[in-house]
Amino acid sequence: MAHIVFLGPPGAGKGTQAAEISLRMGVPHLSTGELLRAAVREESPLGREADAHMRAGRLVPDDLVLEILTERLRAPDCRKGFLLDGFPRNVAQAEALDRLASVDRVLYFDLPESVLTERMTQRRHCPQCGTVYNLTTRPPKVPGRCDHDGGPLAQRNDDTEGAVRTRLSVYREATRPLLEYYRKRNVVLDIDASGRPEEVTARIRRVLG
Ligand code: AMP
Repeated sequence: MAHIVFLGPPGAGKGTQAAEISLRMGVPHLSTGELLRAAVREESPLGREADAHMRAGRLVPDDLVLEILTERLRAPDCRKGFLLDGFPRNVAQAEALDRLASVDRVLYFDLPESVLTERMTQRRHCPQCGTVYNLTTRPPKVPGRCDHDGGPLAQRNDDTEGAVRTRLSVYREATRPLLEYYRKRNVVLDIDASGRPEEVTARIRRVLG
């Protein structure tokens, strides 16, 4: 059973890689960002509370994120293991995760900050099927349209300049300390997250064996 965490700054490509690697490994891809965005779309009480924090680029309060994640972890598909993308994001969440499951591997996505901003502001996605594009490195075949269903592409409401700046500083202050937390346990694998998505996938496959 594999319990894997993808750790790294926003815009490093964790979501794109998690989608690919989870398919290959046959374990579910658990993105707390996606779970929260779904709750916002459904306008559930939790989603309504999370919405303002997300738009501003701040972390959603730990109790809400834990509620949504714990619920997801109860689903039968998580018995085979899971790939966590975007969780934990601070030490309190890492400690909560330790109480829920053992963490086998932490993949640290390493990328300079200048590249991150560029990747986030160039990011678009298909609201229908969830496919993520980048206007420079992974453009859709027809501008503004999804390759799979032809639907119009959208931009995340937290990929704007102001929210991106906040997300990067939240990462530096709250999330980056987790690198030390997990290094002490010898579970961290460093991934050079630069280059094309296929190149990064190949590096991940190499270190995961
Ligand atoms: P992501 O899709 O991982 O970039 O997450 C998008 C946004 O969802 C973040 O900027 C936070 O507002 C919120 N979020 C996602 N995961 C977490 C988490 N583990 N803790 C707190 N907030 C989160």
